[in-house]
Amino acid sequence: LEDDETRVQNICFVGAGYVGGPTAAVVAYQNPNIQVSVVDKNSERIESWKSRHLPIHEPGLEDVVRIARDGIASRTHSSGSDERSMSQRSPNLIFSTDVEKCISEADIVFIAVNTPTKEYGTGAGSATNLAALESAAVTIAQFARAGAVIVEKSTVPCGTARTIQDIFAVHRPNDKFEVLSNPEFLAEGSAIRDLLCPDRILIGSSRSPSGFAAAAKLQSIYSWIDKSKILTVNTWSAELAKVVANAMLAQRISSINTISAICDKTGAEIDQVAAAIGSDSRLGSKFLKAGIGFGGSCFKKDILALTYLANSLHLPEVADYWMAVLAVNDFQKTRFLDKIVSKLNGALYGKKITVLGYTFKQNTNDTRESPAIEVIQKLAEERPSEIAVFDPGCTALEIRHSIDAFVSPAQFQNLHTYDNVYDACSGSSAILILTPWEQFKSSKLKLDSQDINLTSPTVSSIDASIPDPALARSPVPTKPAYSPT
Ligand code: NAD
Repeated sequence: LEDDETRVQNICFVGAGYVGGPTAAVVAYQNPNIQVSVVDKNSERIESWKSRHLPIHEPGLEDVVRIARDGIASRTHSSGSDERSMSQRSPNLIFSTDVEKCISEADIVFIAVNTPTKEYGTGAGSATNLAALESAAVTIAQFARAGAVIVEKSTVPCGTARTIQDIFAVHRPNDKFEVLSNPEFLAEGSAIRDLLCPDRILIGSSRSPSGFAAAAKLQSIYSWIDKSKILTVNTWSAELAKVVANAMLAQRISSINTISAICDKTGAEIDQVAAAIGSDSRLGSKFLKAGIGFGGSCFKKDILALTYLANSLHLPEVADYWMAVLAVNDFQKTRFLDKIVSKLNGALYGKKITVLGYTFKQNTNDTRESPAIEVIQKLAEERPSEIAVFDPGCTALEIRHSIDAFVSPAQFQNLHTYDNVYDACSGSSAILILTPWEQFKSSKLKLDSQDINLTSPTVSSIDASIPDPALARSPVPTKPAYSPT
């Protein structure tokens, strides 16, 4: 290919969420000569991306955004005492609600909008709701420059590229567009590291000269990634591989959780069993930590989508297999609650229970489908005197706003959220660590100190996610607790 055919000068990401924002920031950071825009119809989110208070908490994100969005001074030459010049890196990342303008200027348009589950239902699985994606595709079709490359970044059901092609055929019958699949494998909490050093970049295209040319153009923006890590496949393989990767990670969690249930009844210890299994190089040690099960906006939705696909292809045995992964995930939470009740002598009534960790995993402020939500709902049914919730990644007010959608003050009054871990734990009969934030495990909280005034029965920290039931004494800003009035 000639240079001109692959040269990319302008990229637009549609969707400024947990994927679109960080991915755009890293692409801009790594390609100072490419202008990158991120658009969203949610103006509040865009304003937040423009400000010093980013809407997403991710280690390293602020630095990357600051460099690409604001430009920074950097030393260009230094030898001994000869520091010759400082140069200003020009900003090349903007966040905007001017969707039409940004799309119309782009050589590559990424679709990074949400693709949630249509409806949670039965053993049939649930289709993916593609309304946001289709609406974004219509807007892109209306405003994209002829020949722009369209890229699915969102996780989508196998075959979605055809839907996008159909939308373009209706709105731009005389222009040719290639639609590629380039699913994102970042994990929240380590998004920037994952984007800088991914295990692989997957690019799916049609097996045609124009498909290959578009894939080469897309590949050129991943300038910092070793070519051996770039896998080019057909479009349908790329779409399916993303959903299956999530389903298999979730399956591994459910697999080890089923074994933890057996351990509880036999005297075997799950961490010892997991270590023994994980030392087999064919299996590896990752994703073998038993806990209360997976949460977040992706695993469950992608298994439901896979199950739906299997059913629509008349493969009920395949669908049943994957639905079992979800059934085990629910079972694990019920077992956890049963354990708490039995440790506290059969009843929670009149006791304060503290939940540490409300986000669905550590190092993120994302609370979507967090296991803590279900645990708190189940706790509320047991009528404790108080449920206290603290998370290092969210303010008391943010937790309150989230939890009100699931447990309203009318259903259970004594749910309080805190900005201080010690206040949250004070007087508790049980402290449940539901998210393995580093500060909960790096050093022990002095449970018998005056910081925490324990009531009987003796507190047992019932740890859902980490082997050592320890709490950290890291400095947490003291703010007043937020309670429903
Ligand atoms: P998100 O909800 O955080 O962000 C999506 C954004 O798209 C929202 O801000 C929304 O306002 C915006 N949007 C929706 N329709 C739009 C339109 N027509 N025009 C402009 N903006 C629009 O979602 P997310 O977590 O970033 O996930 C995005 C996709 O990436 C999903 O398909 C998800 O499955 C996939 N994914 C997510 C993760 C993750 O860890 N969150 C990882 C890999 C892949």
